[in-house]
Amino acid sequence: MSDFSLLINATYVFCALLFIMGLKLLSHPSTARKGNILSSLGMLIAILVTLLDHNIISYQLILAGIVLGSAIGVFAAKKVEMTAMPELVSLFNGVGGLASLAVAYAAIVSDNPLTTFELSVSVVALLIGAVTFSGSVIAWAKLSERMVGRPVVFKGQEVANVALVIAILAIGVLLVRQPDVTMWHYAMIALALLMGVMLVLPIGGADMPVVISLLNSYSGLAACAAGFALENNLLIVAGSLVGASGIILTNIMCKAMNRSLVNVLTSGFQAVVTSDMKIEGEIKALSPDDAFYVLEAAQSVLVIPGYGMAVAQAQHAMKELQELIESNGAEVAYAIHPVAGRMPGHMNVLLAEADISYDKLFEMDEINPRIENFDVAIVIGANDVVNPAAREMKGSPIYGMPVINADLAKNVFVLKRGMATGFAGIDNPLFFKPNCRMIFGDAKESLNNLVRQFAS
Ligand code: NDP
Repeated sequence: MSDFSLLINATYVFCALLFIMGLKLLSHPSTARKGNILSSLGMLIAILVTLLDHNIISYQLILAGIVLGSAIGVFAAKKVEMTAMPELVSLFNGVGGLASLAVAYAAIVSDNPLTTFELSVSVVALLIGAVTFSGSVIAWAKLSERMVGRPVVFKGQEVANVALVIAILAIGVLLVRQPDVTMWHYAMIALALLMGVMLVLPIGGADMPVVISLLNSYSGLAACAAGFALENNLLIVAGSLVGASGIILTNIMCKAMNRSLVNVLTSGFQAVVTSDMKIEGEIKALSPDDAFYVLEAAQSVLVIPGYGMAVAQAQHAMKELQELIESNGAEVAYAIHPVAGRMPGHMNVLLAEADISYDKLFEMDEINPRIENFDVAIVIGANDVVNPAAREMKGSPIYGMPVINADLAKNVFVLKRGMATGFAGIDNPLFFKPNCRMIFGDAKESLNNLVRQFAS
């Protein structure tokens, strides 16, 4: 190894250390910002060092790519509404997969002869990259409600999937043996794209968080395989880190749903009987004025945020209300469900933005055992994550999924605009319970109303 490549690899090890330290810091909200900066610094050094390496096609082309990519990135980040962030993240995953697909394709068709190993990993990168790309596009369409969120299944889908896997294996072997035959390249890309679609179509409703973290992990694995194809050690390390953290997140999401990964990936094929489920009780609406009197007398208040809080951007109004309730002598705590919102950590991001102290945030497992002690639970735009059907209704699509047991609090206020269902598309018996009152309207407006009552 020459002194130059020794220096490059030593710098890569340093960058990998920065990535790992960054990831460690990202695991807590109070250090996440520092972690982000540290990892970005690692990536900047990695890019600069790679540019100094001898395998560069042309600096002009690289510059053009950076300018074009940055322009698209800035435009997307500026234009996209905060509520559409999860869809954007899903698209970013897909673009990562597409990049690995392009790198692998370039390696396969390049004039440099590849060893069988290099060819095999290039085919793997091509496959995972394409699956990640098309799967992420479907996930984006489901999250942005451009297509139905429920599982899409058709007759013979399982047989079609098995046939697809066999065809991909066969074409993969042919491609490694005859890398010059263009037909195998296109067949492999087309089948892999189809595979991504077939993987995500049957998953829907409350299971989407698992798919998103799984696709995130795939994008890392695709980059890792591309790293082997390019013989770039840092890409292998960075890809493995993304792949491993994606798998850990997938595992956390599966635990949050109380399901195994296999069960999530195949459950769309199991028919769910929901038609004979009757919800008893009646809906009782409450005006913010009346809600104020109950809140004023409360000693302890639990806030349960969900996707609707993101839509209404109600976090700042909630912070104001929290301070008023506290100055009235009551305790305020926040309960966070791992899949609340539309992306992992969605609620933590919103509450951090409103400067709500981390020590007021409690995970579902911490809060559920003492939920009966709260005088009032305020549910802000949450629906699926507080649905007691998960506990009470065998046969419900979310039966067995751990939820925040808001219905066990002494009083429950649900802030939502109407009687629409949540992402999973199922009715919520919580709204019909005797201790539940609906405060209809945009969550931010309702909270501002309560703030005005307290302040007057
Ligand atoms: P839900 O999607 O279950 O419910 C959101 C509720 O917010 C709706 O019922 C809606 O009712 C209400 N809402 C919308 N806009 C407003 C507004 N302006 N003011 C007041 N209320 C509003 O949200 P949850 O957070 O409870 O559950 C998340 C769901 O999303 C789960 O099913 C989860 O599996 C899924 N998911 C989560 C992902 C993640 O990574 N966290 C990713 C993908 C899916 P109405 O229209 O009547 O106001």
